[in-house]
Amino acid sequence: MNEFELIDRFFASQPIARDDVIVGIGDDAAVLAPPAGQQLVVTTDTLVAGVHFPESTPPHSVGWKALAVNLSDLAAMGATPAWFTLNLTLPQSDPAWVGAFAGGLYALAQAHRVQLVGGDTTQGPLSITITACGFVPASAALLRRGARPGDRIYVTGTLGDAGLGLRYVQGQLDVPAAFRDQLRKCLDEPAPRVREGEALRGIASACIDVSDGLAADLGHILDASGAGATVDLGRLPLSDAYKALWHAVGGWQVALTNGDDYELCFTLPADRADALDGIAARFACGFACIGEVDATPGLRLRSVDGSLYQAETRGYDHFR
Ligand code: ADP
Ligand code: MG
Repeated sequence: MNEFELIDRFFASQPIARDDVIVGIGDDAAVLAPPAGQQLVVTTDTLVAGVHFPESTPPHSVGWKALAVNLSDLAAMGATPAWFTLNLTLPQSDPAWVGAFAGGLYALAQAHRVQLVGGDTTQGPLSITITACGFVPASAALLRRGARPGDRIYVTGTLGDAGLGLRYVQGQLDVPAAFRDQLRKCLDEPAPRVREGEALRGIASACIDVSDGLAADLGHILDASGAGATVDLGRLPLSDAYKALWHAVGGWQVALTNGDDYELCFTLPADRADALDGIAARFACGFACIGEVDATPGLRLRSVDGSLYQAETRGYDHFR
């Protein structure tokens, strides 16, 4: 199958058709109609085989995850996703692989009504770049720089599960059978917190998605806001799987510094806690309050006994 047949078979026709796509795949560029009065939010992320996902990852999961990491960035801005483009670099033309990849991609695209509107297909080592676009009402985007001393710090869902999934897949961690599928799913097919991000517009003072580990990503909020924070380790939300493996993985470290969780970390003024309670019932993932912003620069991690805890690293850095 050549390049054009691949595009035709898997990307030209697709399950999502939005009214605001005037011209989608098939011309030299897409023509799109953003809603009046809204601001456009644009993000892009690349996944490289062997760097961002293990080479053994099933193609369905690669497709899902490539879109998920981008939707997670839109979620962190409080944006409602609408469109995306796909730049696919493949070692060879393998219709079975591309079909399964497209299946994972479209499963997530359908869940959030986002449409693929263009892309590029090339040959080379497996790599996927997606650019995703969404909307926010004027000036409503959630930024990193809005945290203020006294704000509470929250995270959605649970932390560290993708890190445990990775250690399991790499044969570094013995995981009880009952937890294996769940941890693999967290690693391979994370659920971007899109609806949570939208609901946090007007409530959160700052927001980021946890892609590089909580300590690093909360650190970005603090740096951008010119503030510091204290986080209580005992309040970090952990899954039953993590709790069961707590000793085997060396305690808090994975939850604090492993990437790939794609939860949201956000801050809000204490007087908006009622507003958060008002939306919390809609979201099964839960919002855990883990600490507070203060004026002393830096991030302090407080152990259950009150002593300060030193994390070993601040998360993943490609060029370190
Ligand atoms: P051009 O030579 O103008 O770049 P291409 O032959 O690369 O055109 O692409 C033809 C059409 O197919 C374009 O509309 C392009 O957006 C779309 N396309 C190519 N690759 C992909 C892909 N991986 N996913 C979605 N659309 C794609
Ligand atoms: Mg092209």
